[in-house]
Amino acid sequence: MSLHTISEWPCAGRVTAHAVTLSSPSPVLFLTAKAPQGALVTHVSVADSDKQSNTEPSVSNVLQDVHISAQLMEDFLELAKENTDKDLETCGVLGAFLENGTFYVTTLIIPKQDSTSSSCQALNEEDVFAIQNERSLFPMGWIHTHPSQSCFMSSVDLHTHYSYQMMVPEAFAIVLAPTDSSRSYGIFQLTEPSGMSVLKECQETGFHPHKEPADGSPIYEHCSHVYTNSNLRFEIFDLR
Ligand SMILES: [Zn+2]
Ligand SMILES: [Zn+2]
Repeated sequence: MSLHTISEWPCAGRVTAHAVTLSSPSPVLFLTAKAPQGALVTHVSVADSDKQSNTEPSVSNVLQDVHISAQLMEDFLELAKENTDKDLETCGVLGAFLENGTFYVTTLIIPKQDSTSSSCQALNEEDVFAIQNERSLFPMGWIHTHPSQSCFMSSVDLHTHYSYQMMVPEAFAIVLAPTDSSRSYGIFQLTEPSGMSVLKECQETGFHPHKEPADGSPIYEHCSHVYTNSNLRFEIFDLR
């Protein structure tokens, strides 16, 4: 793979842009964030006001920890800004490697996509799989914006996420909602087994209500196995 600098990313900050020649005909952007000295690993906190905070952590006890750079979320928000300003969602896919029992998210792939103010559909998903396979990455979940909606998982989001969590039990969904004054981002998972069962049995498409799990637990919840790690380097492939 050849790597050469073509230009500074327009909204650069701490990010440098390079061109990477893959087997695909069009070059993709490759961004590397400069990691600061000394790692700072922070447990992603759940706000006191969260209505689900009193429920039992039904998934955390069996899951491996996942580390992700908070800078990755900031960079994604920056790359999504043009869409966000037009009230269009943006989505990306997260890739991670597993080392000594911990997943490290090192790759963000922004696929070609069709989006509206309340949905985002990845296109040419084989391009995403190609990058993940080449690097032997786990499909660790996905990240998307809610440009004008609050920070929550819609029914369509839950169905999208079900596929990720089926593949990797630790997979999570990050929702970035810059206009939500109470919570600008959330890192979510379907509850196991309750939420996963509801989604497994649901045949509906489009936006629709889900019945609450019979055992009284929520369908989805904030993750307690995800940590932000300030020393984690990552790459961004923008395939749009
Ligand atoms: Zn959503
Ligand atoms: Zn459903």
